Amino acid sequence: MPDATQVTRFTSSAEATVSGVSSQIESRNPATGEVLGRVPVSSTEEVRAVVASARRAQEAWALLPIEERTVRLLRFRNAIVDRGEEIVELLSQENGKTRHESLLFEVFPVAEVATYLSKHAAEILSPQRVTLGLAKYRTAYLQYVPRGVVAIISPWNFPFVLSLGDTLFALAAGNAVVLKPSEVTPLVLAKAKEIWDATAGLPRDLFQVVQGYGKTGSDLIDAQPDMVVFTGGVATGKRVAAMCGERLIPCTLELGGKAPLIACEDADIERTARGIVFGGFANSGQICISVERVYAHAQVHDRLLERVVGLVSELRQGDPMTSLDLDVSAMTFDKQVDVVEKHIADAKQKGAVVRTGGTRKGMFFAPTVIAGCNHDMTVMTEEIFGPIVPFMKVASEDEAIAHANDSHLGLNAYVFTADREKGRRIAERVLAGSVVVNDVFVNYAMAEAPFGGVKQSGIGRVHGPEGLRSFCHVKHVNVDRFGTMDREPTWYPFTKGAYGGFQKAVRALFGGGSLAKRLGDLL
Ligand code: NAD
Repeated sequence: MPDATQVTRFTSSAEATVSGVSSQIESRNPATGEVLGRVPVSSTEEVRAVVASARRAQEAWALLPIEERTVRLLRFRNAIVDRGEEIVELLSQENGKTRHESLLFEVFPVAEVATYLSKHAAEILSPQRVTLGLAKYRTAYLQYVPRGVVAIISPWNFPFVLSLGDTLFALAAGNAVVLKPSEVTPLVLAKAKEIWDATAGLPRDLFQVVQGYGKTGSDLIDAQPDMVVFTGGVATGKRVAAMCGERLIPCTLELGGKAPLIACEDADIERTARGIVFGGFANSGQICISVERVYAHAQVHDRLLERVVGLVSELRQGDPMTSLDLDVSAMTFDKQVDVVEKHIADAKQKGAVVRTGGTRKGMFFAPTVIAGCNHDMTVMTEEIFGPIVPFMKVASEDEAIAHANDSHLGLNAYVFTADREKGRRIAERVLAGSVVVNDVFVNYAMAEAPFGGVKQSGIGRVHGPEGLRSFCHVKHVNVDRFGTMDREPTWYPFTKGAYGGFQKAVRALFGGGSLAKRLGDLL
């Protein structure tokens, strides 16, 4: 592990907003402390001007057939893939993740999203016929109309995919995008914009990046975009939702997670242990769908815990730029290291045992396994967002489900069992946006399926048909079918005679009699 004890980085967004406007953001490598570059902070006026120019670009873009839009987005994909190594290196330097993670969890899923959209967006956004019941004399269909300018505000943990995945969905749906990346990882999105601008056929103003701290994010919402997609912490999400509420801007919120992993009594010890180690320590645990708490059935608990501790001792940690033979690298953000240390202190003080890890060297935090945890400890109830896996022994799967559901968050959840049917049954009882049986993380990479949270993990969905359609407003177009008369029977004038007729009709249609039932079945 490199000696990076002196490395600290960045002011938090809160500090920056309070202390006023800094004109530049300095980006540092968390593994080494090296300054990687600087970006200017966008002023309030610049943000407004960017939204206005994006709005103009969107009008022309929305007129293109969807197939043409996605063909052009594939050019962007190709350019990203062609410059993949450049992106991987910058990502790993700026964010601290291993190069495997930059390639497989950032570049790959962005390419996959563009590919998915090129195959399916046109069909998903094609007009949908509505089958009418009573009003069969009319026809109806739904038209998916782009919203306009979508503001995307993204976090630092997966800066590339969490910014560009949503961007591609929004653009395919016919919108323009103004992106505000995290102040912790600005350079990689500046690179993405550079690649966009260098790709033929992509209007420059259609996708723009504004840089800054939380203040720039709120400036962006204040510039009245037509939709906001926010990915970040719960507390910031509430502020964003309040701003959107005041302005009546629709928003999608992708917030924190506290993914439980239920290890059933019949779980395969080796696979479950490997799943826990990968699910808990990939990206140093800084993933909204990381395994953040393990509920292990008493039948498997001890063996599973020992195997996890053994596997952790084999993990290789270090500066991602020095080797490709590394499993874990540095944490990204110094404030997050403090959060991790507080969780460990709280758990220890309440009687839990740190079985391995618990130490740091600069931004390198040793993968940590804590045994003997319970719900009095913050490590089991609050988001960790760092390399800690806490274990709790449970007497039954019902107890595990009850604990899994005892959370204010509900993003991902995992079940490990040899019995797939049981896995499904448990999955259906766990309160979460996605539940994965016998695997970790995979659902996020599936652009075909919706992703998002319940409870305080968020509102709305990204990915899949639901995610794509959320970037449109749904227009109901309703047309007469057989020609028209002078007036409809329900129009003026209202008369006593007509009232009697309607009264009979309502009873016949919806009353308790047999005619109502027969008519109801027919319609
Ligand atoms: P954060 O909430 O601190 O910041 C996220 C973004 O919001 C940043 O770009 C920040 O500058 C901006 N911001 C801050 N204050 C703002 C304001 N008042 N108005 C508008 N924008 C503002 O989150 P973070 O620390 O960057 O990311 C970590 C969090 O993100 C974790 O809680 C994690 O679980 C969550 N996350 C969720 C998902 C998901 O898909 N659900 C994915 C990744 C991360």
